[in-house]
Amino acid sequence: MSDDYSKVLLDESEMPTQWYNVIPDLPAPPPPPLHPGTLEPIGPDDLAPLFPMALILQEVSGDSYIDIPGEVLDVYRLWRPSPLLRARRLEQELDTPAKIFLKYEGVSPAGSHKPNTAVPQAYYNAQEGVTRLTTETGAGQWGSALAFATAQYGLECEVWQVRASYDQKPYRRTMMEVWGARVHPSPSDLTESGRAVLAAEPSSPGSLGIAISEAVEQAAQREDTRYALGSVLNHVLLHQTIIGEEALLQLAKVGETPDVLVGCTGGGSNFGGLSFPFLREKLAGRMDPVIRCVEPASCPSLTRGEYRYDFGDTGQLTPLVKMHTLGHSFIPDPIHAGGLRYHGMSPLVSHLYELGLVEAESIHQNECFAAALRFARTEGILPAPEPTHAIAAAVREALRCKESGEEKVILTALCGHGHLDLAAYEKYLAGELVDYDYPEEKIAEAMANVPVLA
Ligand SMILES: *Cc1c(COP(=O)(O)O)cnc(C)c1O
Repeated sequence: MSDDYSKVLLDESEMPTQWYNVIPDLPAPPPPPLHPGTLEPIGPDDLAPLFPMALILQEVSGDSYIDIPGEVLDVYRLWRPSPLLRARRLEQELDTPAKIFLKYEGVSPAGSHKPNTAVPQAYYNAQEGVTRLTTETGAGQWGSALAFATAQYGLECEVWQVRASYDQKPYRRTMMEVWGARVHPSPSDLTESGRAVLAAEPSSPGSLGIAISEAVEQAAQREDTRYALGSVLNHVLLHQTIIGEEALLQLAKVGETPDVLVGCTGGGSNFGGLSFPFLREKLAGRMDPVIRCVEPASCPSLTRGEYRYDFGDTGQLTPLVKMHTLGHSFIPDPIHAGGLRYHGMSPLVSHLYELGLVEAESIHQNECFAAALRFARTEGILPAPEPTHAIAAAVREALRCKESGEEKVILTALCGHGHLDLAAYEKYLAGELVDYDYPEEKIAEAMANVPVLA
């Protein structure tokens, strides 16, 4: 390939046909989820009311590779393989010797990486006779991905959307409805969890934790219904590894290996998806990238949270999972990166952080949007608010290279476009974006509600 390329593409025939499971390659497995009543590790049967068995088995699988079903590959091919972009014009603008690569997931129907797991989740549910899926959505990215995926396999889809974004992002809701989903604002009066929150705070803006409780409660009550989660769980990160597997092939085509890999982390799925195949290469001694998570300064679960067993949701309906948490009752400030407003972090990413295999940093939203504008004005693409964090971290790294003269190869995931997030850009351009202080007291209050295990 000549050396002036701007993107690296794969042929459809080169698309990977297996997902990669990082767990068997780790020095120790992550601690198991616990039943909140017995505090014993949960078994597959405990999860059966919520998930189809195929996904439960993937959640605990000891296999390094899992075949992607043909019916899933067929749907993946609607947009995959996704392009790997080389941000030459941004590099020039930054006057850096670094090379910046971005794996672009905004080309999917829903505009983010979320369909990579929504599609197999819908597929396995349909295979096991489930006819209806419930879920929560924050910014609307996950809800729209699942609405698209359920439409592919003829399932019903019901989505609890966090009230604040339900009101602020009417177009995401319309998108879900176009694909046939039903959307409720959360908290809603349709569930006990929702009614309890509304009783205490009638004008609650909602949170991901509350919306999860509502969707889980609905799924647990009906035999034909299961629940789907768009991040955090092992099987979700597994499905996202198609991102990193493709990126490995694409970088190989241009003879590069990453020195630094950065990714934004809400629940950890786009980060895990990009980084795990590279972590495999690193653990095998074939490359040695620094791998770094980037999180919002106002919801810094890795850099400031505690590594504890906590609930995944506000209503305490989920198993206890060991993760970096700010407390399940923590409601983050309303930053625009709705997908990064989660109190916890994937247990697997948390475990890697504890093992010292990944690093983390946090960044305020004004720095993120400043970097996003630099990116949009040079490279053209308008990033979703979440990956503005990844871009800001890549810019930081590239500017450090400018100082040191190092020609590092920086790889990140541009995990979604921001065409439905223009309200955030409008605020930024008007100088109205707030950088929230670290919410010390709110976190202390929420941490006091985290169960203390003997
Ligand atoms: C959901 C979402 C995120 C956050 O979730 P992760 O599991 O951390 O990837 C980040 N970016 C976009 C575009 C999203 O839709």
